[in-house]
Amino acid sequence: MKKAVLNESRCDKSPFCGAKHACPVGAIKFVRQGIFSGKIEIDKEKCIGCSKCVKYCPHNAIIMK
Ligand code: SF4
Repeated sequence: MKKAVLNESRCDKSPFCGAKHACPVGAIKFVRQGIFSGKIEIDKEKCIGCSKCVKYCPHNAIIMK
C-alpha cells in the first residue's frame, strides 16, 4: 500500500496545515520546535493511504509512495 510522504523542501511548516486537518486518522502532526517554528510529520504506521492529504496540501508537498 502506498503511504503519504512529505517533501520537506516544499512544505511551509504551518501549524494550520490543511492536510493535517484533512487526515481522517490523525497521522499528520505539527511538531513545535521553538516559539515560532516547527515542522510537519507524517506517521507512516498510522497512515491508511487514503491520499486525502495530497489534495489538501496547497504546496503539493505530499506524494503517495
Ligand atoms: S494518506 Fe490519508 S491517512 Fe495517510 S497521512 Fe494522508 S490523509 Fe492521513
